[in-house]
Amino acid sequence: MSRFTLPRDIYHGKGSLSELKNLKGKKAILVVGGGSMKRQGFLDMAVNYLKEAGMEVRLFEGVEPDPSVETVMKGAQAMREFEPDWIVSMGGGSPIDAAKAMWAFYEYPDVTFEDLCIPFNFPQLRTKAKLAAIPSTSGTATEVTAFSVITDYAKGVKYPLADFNITPDIAIVDPDLVKGLPAKQVAYTGMDALTHAIEAYVSTLHGPFTDPLALQAIEMVLDYLPASYHGNMDAREQMHYAQCLAGMAFSNALLGIVHSMAHKTGAAFSTGHITHGCANAMYLPYVIRYNAKDATAASRYADIARRMGLAGVSEAALINSLCAKIDEMNTELAIPKTLQEFGIKEDEFKEKIASISELAVGDACTGSNPRAITPAEMERLFNCIYYGTEVDF
Ligand code: FE
Repeated sequence: MSRFTLPRDIYHGKGSLSELKNLKGKKAILVVGGGSMKRQGFLDMAVNYLKEAGMEVRLFEGVEPDPSVETVMKGAQAMREFEPDWIVSMGGGSPIDAAKAMWAFYEYPDVTFEDLCIPFNFPQLRTKAKLAAIPSTSGTATEVTAFSVITDYAKGVKYPLADFNITPDIAIVDPDLVKGLPAKQVAYTGMDALTHAIEAYVSTLHGPFTDPLALQAIEMVLDYLPASYHGNMDAREQMHYAQCLAGMAFSNALLGIVHSMAHKTGAAFSTGHITHGCANAMYLPYVIRYNAKDATAASRYADIARRMGLAGVSEAALINSLCAKIDEMNTELAIPKTLQEFGIKEDEFKEKIASISELAVGDACTGSNPRAITPAEMERLFNCIYYGTEVDF
């Protein structure tokens, strides 16, 4: 048995933020981040639409990037005091991720993070409130997914939460909110979306409900990401929908080791953070080469290349074309091809890569990767990515 879960409603299109005025309820708490929505006027618009819906509105502002346990607890406390029947979260991934966790602690004050960390083990939500999510970036797709990541800074632990209970009730995918994104963020988040779609398509949990979403997302990213990066707002709009489609696919099919590797290298090196989407973009072609040694995965990658109209007749030629296409995208988006080029120091890489490899194999995303991997193989793969060498194992 498989389950396929999406928000009940996905409003999309320019100006769709105004759908907030049609929500039915008495009280809404609006969870937002550091202030970009406010500066651009979208926070006021959202508040006014909710008031137009006849709701009393309270703000919870200042959710930080990589939201903390403390922020989640504070938000849950604010919710317990205010007793909203709608939680509306707007912004990049962080306020939406935070709102998902706040929601659980609002409805179940006695639950612990450790309880919630067991995948697909949440208590039944929606006894007090529903969740509406409004993304202001085009990549994580948290507005349609069953996932949230909360960081315990004291313990240095990231809690990945996964449960269909936290899939929002309503997503509002309004491209007006992403017009102001910086080019670099467009590039990284766009390649994150491409990775979501490709990993979902080859995942061991893929199926007839997720495949069409993944393929459509891949096609749209290939068609629109470069133009969106160069400032074309029609392409930017299409990318906002593409990342959402990719999210609908991977929320149900899960991901693979590109994400495992990005998760464990993001904050691992002293030379600075490797942004999630940038890491994914670098690792993706190497992981395709590794996974393609598995016959089933190879035919899935070839399938993607064929559907995208890339050159080649044999599977090997089609997979080459797919990797070349990703390389071409990375070049166009000014994304490095190797960890060395990114600026990771060789001695630090050599010192840390064995333990990073072990952690990456243990990541939650490894389980649905189409080809199994050992820590030793993971280390070899990272070495290929560091030096830009061929993956021949
Ligand atoms: Fe991602």
